[in-house]
Amino acid sequence: MVTKKVAVVTGGARGIGLAAVEIFLAKGYDVAVVDMSYTVANELAETYSSVLPIECDVSNPDDVSAMAAVIERQYGRVDALVNNAGIAALHPIEETGFDSWKKIMSVNLDGTFLVTQALTPLMKKVSGAIVNVASIAGLRASTLRTAYGTSKAAVIHLTKQQAMELGEHGIRANCVAPGPVETELLAKLVEAAPEMKASYLETIPLNRFGQEKEIAEVIAFLCSPEGGYVTGQTIAVDGGFQSAGVGLT
Ligand code: NAD
Repeated sequence: MVTKKVAVVTGGARGIGLAAVEIFLAKGYDVAVVDMSYTVANELAETYSSVLPIECDVSNPDDVSAMAAVIERQYGRVDALVNNAGIAALHPIEETGFDSWKKIMSVNLDGTFLVTQALTPLMKKVSGAIVNVASIAGLRASTLRTAYGTSKAAVIHLTKQQAMELGEHGIRANCVAPGPVETELLAKLVEAAPEMKASYLETIPLNRFGQEKEIAEVIAFLCSPEGGYVTGQTIAVDGGFQSAGVGLT
């Protein structure tokens, strides 16, 4: 088992996940970047010697088992697991195709379940911390988010299960629920529904979108010893959007 702390970040090749990877690296962790986009993760490894890129579809059980075997061989421990890989699509109930529903559930929910289950033995060794990335769409119902919001609500509940079941091993599990953050994922959604941007900005008390690093800093805090008595919680990191109680997301 290596002596350095080890973080595993799914969907770590870009966006919020990449911002989390950069914070863990700055804190001196070895970081496994688990992503479908291996090329980008590999480029990251060329820049940072402490990055291990692992190509993995988190919704594929075989990929996840292979990923966990690599991490066990390379590090033998997991101090921080960030289940961040996620996808989104905007459809109302009547227009949500079953394939689209299943795809969103499989990445956002099954992926969080599978990766956590596969890495739990390695987290038990060092009382690791889990942070799942949900969304404020999982905290309240909103237009067009039938599958996405439901998947994220389930992730919020799964977090409570993880905290309850794994607490006896010193493992903590928390969730962040970001509001809109300027990443590729959001850009695609706004492109499909351009009116959404103005509506968001009107509704967010801080009158701006979040930055990737602002979500990542909260993730890093929840994984740190400073967050050592926090478990089972969901923290909205959303410029006050959730508190304002109206709007799209
Ligand atoms: P993004 O699309 O910019 O990046 C997502 C990363 O996940 C990519 O590197 C992608 O290759 C990877 N990925 C996607 N599917 C995968 C899979 N099956 N297996 C492995 N890797 C996979 O997304 P983002 O905006 O950074 O979002 C990150 C997380 O934050 C997601 O869970 C998303 O639902 C959540 N979130 C984002 C926002 C936002 O406004 N951007 C708001 C709330 C919640």
